[in-house]
Amino acid sequence: MSGPVPHDVVVRLDPELRWLLAPRFRSAGDRRLPFDPDATVGHLVQAAGVPLTEVGPVVVAGAQAALDVRPAPGAVLEVRPVDRPQPVPTGGFLLDVGLGGLARRLRLLGLDAAWRNDADDPELVAQATAEDRVLLTQDRGLLMRRALPAGALVRGGGTDEQLADVLDRFAVVPAPLTRCTTCNGELRPAPKAAVADLLEPGTRRTVEEFSRCTRCGQVYWRGAHATRIDAILQQAAGTRATLQPPVV
Ligand SMILES: [Zn+2]
Repeated sequence: MSGPVPHDVVVRLDPELRWLLAPRFRSAGDRRLPFDPDATVGHLVQAAGVPLTEVGPVVVAGAQAALDVRPAPGAVLEVRPVDRPQPVPTGGFLLDVGLGGLARRLRLLGLDAAWRNDADDPELVAQATAEDRVLLTQDRGLLMRRALPAGALVRGGGTDEQLADVLDRFAVVPAPLTRCTTCNGELRPAPKAAVADLLEPGTRRTVEEFSRCTRCGQVYWRGAHATRIDAILQQAAGTRATLQPPVV
């Protein structure tokens, strides 16, 4: 591409982020925007279609630029992706309405994953703020809401890919069978006698150690669950090794 004309600003995306551009801009990886004296680095990056949650350092003329700086006409903004893995806020994860399958997977791995099927956008932003959670979503517009404290655009059309992306992006330590997949409550060991009348006869005969959800009362035990968790972790590791920037 030729250089910027003096009254434009160019937002140049790292290859990792180019899928976020409109298709006609993707191969070049650049988005040329008219110069606006009031536009900050952050505004310009978002105007190119990239939520700031996905952005690491932005380099202008060889130096890292703060998001509230107003670039000069002719500036080229080189946008790099957010560093992986990122820390998870103390409150854990909050998942957008469409990511219920991913929420259950994260819970199965013992990760705190709040999710409801009826939360609207303002409620999600309010909950992320109140509970210090990072919002996981596939809705870019939601990530561009100013009030949102932390968010991440989840890649992947299916739950396997989404889980692999989240495990790659965030520094998490799975603790399988510590959290209820149904309600996200914490599990505590439960004596067999306390849960015996809730069990199928086969389970009662063959299983000795149980956990129970402190919130909804659901009973858990190793066995079928453990095999499934191992399979999920192995699959996530395999998918992670082959993760590519998504094709939209
Ligand atoms: Zn529960």
